[in-house]
Amino acid sequence: MRKRIVAGNWKMNLLSAEASKLAKEIDHEAKSVNGVEVMVFPPSLFVPTVAGNTSVIKTGVQNFYPLESGAFTGEVSIAQIKDSGATWALIGHSERRAIFNETEELLKEKVDAAVKHEIGVMFCCGEPLEIREIGEENVYVKKQLQDSLFHLTSEEIKKCVIAYEPVWAIGTGRTATSQQAEDMHREIRSWIAEVYGNETADQISILYGGSCNASNAAELFACPNVDGGLIGGASLRTDIFMAIVKSF
Ligand code: PEP
Repeated sequence: MRKRIVAGNWKMNLLSAEASKLAKEIDHEAKSVNGVEVMVFPPSLFVPTVAGNTSVIKTGVQNFYPLESGAFTGEVSIAQIKDSGATWALIGHSERRAIFNETEELLKEKVDAAVKHEIGVMFCCGEPLEIREIGEENVYVKKQLQDSLFHLTSEEIKKCVIAYEPVWAIGTGRTATSQQAEDMHREIRSWIAEVYGNETADQISILYGGSCNASNAAELFACPNVDGGLIGGASLRTDIFMAIVKSF
C-alpha cells in the first residue's frame, strides 16, 4: 500500500524558538497517529533544531544548490543539508520556479543530487491559472515531470513523492475541487505507469497542495489517487496541521 503523507512547508516563516516549539508539538501529537508519515520543511537554518528535537516526524529542506561544494556564495549543498539532519527536500515548488527562475534543467540537477545523497525527493508540479483556463494543464504538468523527474530509474523514482500543487491554489484560499485533484493525480499516475509500469506507479505517493486546510482535507484525502497533502499556511499551527494529518 502507498504511504500516506502529510507535509508542512513552513516557507520563510517563524523564528528559531517558534520553529522549535512547533516541531516539538507536532512530533508529540504525531506519536499517537498511525499510518500517516508526517514531515516538516522548515527554513534550512532551523533544520538542526527541528531534526534534533523530534523523533517521529521527518525533517526536510525547502531548497539547496545541486553542486557538491565550492564558490557558490550564499548557497547550501545537499551534503550540508544531510549533515544538518534533513532527510527530505522539496524540489520544483512553484515559488522557486516563479520567483527564483528555477528551470527544468536545474530541477533535474537537484533531483539527481538528492538521489545521489539519498535524500528523499518531494517533487512539486502544477499549472498556473492561465494554463488551466485554456485546458492545457495535463500537457503542462506532464512536461514538468518528463523534463525533471522521469529520467530516474524505476528504483530511484519509487523513493520519490510527487506533490501536485496547482499554482492558482497556492496561498490563495482557492482549493482545487476533489474532482480536479483526483483527475490530475490519476493522470500523473498513468504517466508514471507509461514510463515505469503499473507496479511502480502504484507505489508512488502523490500529494495534493494548494490551500488545503482542516475543512477540506478529508474530502481531498478520500480520493483514491490522493495520498496526502503538502500544506503551506495551515502547517504553521499545531492544532490545524494535526487536524489535517488526522483527516484520513
Ligand atoms: C505550498 O506552498 O506548498 C502550499 C500548498 O501552500 P498553501 O497551503 O498555503 O496554499
